[in-house]
Amino acid sequence: MFEQLKTLPQDPILGLMKTFREDPRSDKVDLGVGVYRDEAGETPIMAAVQAAQQRLLETETTKAYIGPAGAEGFNRLMGQLVLGAEHPALKEQRVNVVQTPGGCGALRMAAEFLKLCKPDATVWVSTPTWANHIPLLGGAGLTIREYPYLDPSSLSVNFDAMVDCLEQAEAGDVVLLHGCCHNPSGADLDADQWTAITDLIERKGLLPFIDIAYQGLGEGLDKDADGVRRLAERLPEVIIASSCSKNFGLYRERTGALMLISATAQQGLAATSQLLSAIRSHYSMPPSHGAAVVEMILDTPELMQQWQGELDAMCSRILELRAALSQALAPAGDFSFIERQRGMFSFLGVSPEQVKILREEFGIYMLDSSRINIAGMSTTTLPRVAEAIADVVG
Ligand code: PMP
Repeated sequence: MFEQLKTLPQDPILGLMKTFREDPRSDKVDLGVGVYRDEAGETPIMAAVQAAQQRLLETETTKAYIGPAGAEGFNRLMGQLVLGAEHPALKEQRVNVVQTPGGCGALRMAAEFLKLCKPDATVWVSTPTWANHIPLLGGAGLTIREYPYLDPSSLSVNFDAMVDCLEQAEAGDVVLLHGCCHNPSGADLDADQWTAITDLIERKGLLPFIDIAYQGLGEGLDKDADGVRRLAERLPEVIIASSCSKNFGLYRERTGALMLISATAQQGLAATSQLLSAIRSHYSMPPSHGAAVVEMILDTPELMQQWQGELDAMCSRILELRAALSQALAPAGDFSFIERQRGMFSFLGVSPEQVKILREEFGIYMLDSSRINIAGMSTTTLPRVAEAIADVVG
């Protein structure tokens, strides 16, 4: 059975990580991998997470099965974190949340759910979008179409092109939007653009599907969710995939949530029963530990305060690095978009050949697309990174 299988090429990010590890230069800089790093270049366990783990060790009484929806407390608190505790959809009992294995689990189960709603559903995704969106959604059998999003020359959102394209979508089509901190571009919709896209979705009878994987890492927990919250105030049905990988630093614990906002509480119950059945036939139920940690933090005022402080510090660090890199590159060209963008990623806008020179001559690693992880720099390495970039674009 296996003999006809061919070995697939290695994932480019894994290949890049390997080359980086094997690079003997002590001043090499990894801007490739998409995890948050602190000033020392580490991805430590957050102190609030450590404290919650300690409490869990002392208080957890069972590891018995929990069910396909995961933990009720986690689900309730995640709904409040993303939508805001006072959101009308929550008050009207139109929001159903399930715990998932990371944001990926939420995205994939949303796709399986959409398949049940409409077997020939089309999902529109931005060009570019996160590399795993198309495999996760297309892998469930949905038709993928792309809408232009980033203008490659200005590296900002080409909103007119986005709207023109989505005008062609048909009622019942699904539109995937990044809630904040667009990956890979860092270019987000502004408040007016969120309103305009909400108008378009409403007028054309489209279904909004929001992926929010970086809440708190753009400008703050509430600000980052503002577009999603306002959209969900107006539209009867919304799907939201949320991840705790980055903002709680729980990457390997596989912690995320999928939210269905339905037109009525009654429809929400029916929709959720379908979703739970799909979960049961995929992975039965989500892993517990990460969600138990998140629930403990969100449900304990002093841990919540500690976590918010840590998250705000991560967010400020990214904003400061963005400002510093834009400024350091100013003599070499207009890199002001880096300061305007949000989250961990931006494209530098240099060619694959220039990316290669940065890697081979300067030991600065990034994806061939020139996507950089801003948090991969420190205030110590930033001047060298800026000098190298100025050198290759000069
Ligand atoms: N969506 C986006 C845009 C992401 O960048 C990521 C993580 N890189 C995810 C979803 C999912 O992350 P995870 O499954 O690790 O929670």
